[in-house]
Amino acid sequence: MPSVRAALDLDAVNRDLEAATPQQILTWTWQHFHPDVILTCSFQQDGVVLAHMLHAVAPDARVVFINTGFHFPETLAYREEVVRHIGLRHFVELYPVMPRDEFAQRHGLDLYARDPDLCCQINKVEPLRRYLPGVRAWINGRRRDQGATRQDIRAVEAYQDGLHKVNPLASWTARDTFYYLERHGLPMHPLFEQGYASIGCAPCTRPVLPGEEERSGRWAGQNKTECGIHTLLEPKA
Ligand code: SF4
Repeated sequence: MPSVRAALDLDAVNRDLEAATPQQILTWTWQHFHPDVILTCSFQQDGVVLAHMLHAVAPDARVVFINTGFHFPETLAYREEVVRHIGLRHFVELYPVMPRDEFAQRHGLDLYARDPDLCCQINKVEPLRRYLPGVRAWINGRRRDQGATRQDIRAVEAYQDGLHKVNPLASWTARDTFYYLERHGLPMHPLFEQGYASIGCAPCTRPVLPGEEERSGRWAGQNKTECGIHTLLEPKA
């Protein structure tokens, strides 16, 4: 593994980390960037796997959840269960940048149906964007097998202002994550058994049908595949 004191050569880092385990990638991240490290977790299987791994590597690392106000009640209950089960010490909840009443008055609570990009911007993207200054490593649970838009992600990606996005599960499959949950006695999101393969806000998530991609139940029928938090930053040239 490259020395954490050496200047970051992203190609060399990624060549080296491609064969590393997620735990090794998390350890490398903490050694290189602590304490300016966060994990974003929406309490799907990927985020829960990483929260469990990160707690073992760096128990004081921040785990960040964006509470849009539109989550399934099952997700919020599952969040409580997982935080307690793992014993997360530094759990951070972010909220929409506009109070709910003002949002309802100005845009209507059905904005997701008319302008989902604006809805995501107010409730999800902007809260995170405002939280990111000072963060040097943003760990997240994206995997290459989640669909066409994620096929090329690398273990570590550089963005402007010294921020790095770290994808420890880039080379894992959905099956790997479920196997990890089972092996470590971690609870499963209750909606998974009802056919929800990827779970976001309730109005914008439906179960997937046989043969569909994992994320096809998100914003189904709309020309939208990402909420925007993974496209809000410009990759470093
Ligand atoms: S996922 Fe849907 S409900 Fe949630 S913030 Fe985006 S558009 Fe709004």
